Amino acid sequence: MSKVLAILFKGGEFNTPKLLGSAENALGLKKFIEENGRSIFSTSDKGSTIDEHIKDAEIVISTPFNPVYITKERIESAKNLKLLVTAGVGSDHIDLDYIEKSGRDISVLEVTGSNTTSVAEHALLTILSLIKNFIPAHESIKEGKWDIARIARDAYDLEGKTVGTIGCGRIGYKVLERLYPFKPKELLYYDYQGLTPELEQKVGAKRVDSIEELVSKCDVVNISAPLHSGTKGLINKQLLSKFKDGAYLVNTARGAICVPEDVAEALKNGKLRGYGGDVWYPQPPPADHPWRTMANKYGDGNAMTPHISGSNLDAQARYSLGVKDILTSYFSGKFDYRPQDIILLHGEYATKAYGADKKVKLAK
Ligand code: NAD
Repeated sequence: MSKVLAILFKGGEFNTPKLLGSAENALGLKKFIEENGRSIFSTSDKGSTIDEHIKDAEIVISTPFNPVYITKERIESAKNLKLLVTAGVGSDHIDLDYIEKSGRDISVLEVTGSNTTSVAEHALLTILSLIKNFIPAHESIKEGKWDIARIARDAYDLEGKTVGTIGCGRIGYKVLERLYPFKPKELLYYDYQGLTPELEQKVGAKRVDSIEELVSKCDVVNISAPLHSGTKGLINKQLLSKFKDGAYLVNTARGAICVPEDVAEALKNGKLRGYGGDVWYPQPPPADHPWRTMANKYGDGNAMTPHISGSNLDAQARYSLGVKDILTSYFSGKFDYRPQDIILLHGEYATKAYGADKKVKLAK
């Protein structure tokens, strides 16, 4: 019997029936998969469990929230592999370039749009938390303190600030939509794929020609680009030196887009006033990862959370349904997937989002 391997996050003592994205609940799809003549092995384990079970898997479902790296070696060992489905958005934990080069008939799909609103809301929350110095204010209350000056000395308004996004696809644009009512001075974006004039006008956004121009103009920089060879380590010491002094940086895209030590140093020396987001590399991060404890000169400016923005209960319900739709299409043999869900179709790129250099055969 063909096998589906699902690698999801651990529910453990916190598991509830609504937590569809847990390994225990397997997206609510166990019965559906078995009715379609496949067995399912669902786990939150990493390492040797995956090496063992991927060997005879036809389908692998994985998630960015507890990412398991689907490396060249694992793909090579998986002789029956036909379909990789990301329960969520962002398939950088899969060696996409290797699949394309291998010439194998493997498709990679994700549930595009399933958590874009969830993430955009989290990005806005993070921007406001940093600008308002909200987290230290809340912590001070729990500590029994009441010191207005301690918090107010580095708290501001969003109105009148220049905000820009690196990557202006589904999430980046939703972030701009949510920022627009706050009356920023300017909304800017940097993306090799431009918006239509109508979409730009709707949120009053202007496209800039270079990332250096964006970061040098912005009080707040948001990152909403996928992780690929062109964005890995993009935010490093050199680019940070081009930022406005005291800017805020928010990253809900992928941790590896930033160099952790360089960000922590920029926060310490005042280049950045604050950094926040929910994505790390690796995940989970080690106990001594600099982003757990980094701070600005006041001991503030850290708005990090675990990778939760795209996996609240609303998002889990949507991405579980989306995975079911993808599997339905696959099991039927029609492969009539939603075009926007396809990253690689039968081994060929179907999206321009994973790098301007990719040869893309657009999905029909
Ligand atoms: P999308 O494909 O709609 O948009 C991505 C945009 O980034 C595209 O317009 C693309 O052209 C642009 N881009 C790619 N490389 C770039 C570069 N070097 N410089 C500037 N722009 C670049 O994707 P989306 O739905 O907006 O999601 C974006 C990313 O957010 C995902 O790939 C994923 O990594 C991340 N994400 C995180 C969570 C979370 O829970 N934190 C959830 C969903 C998605």
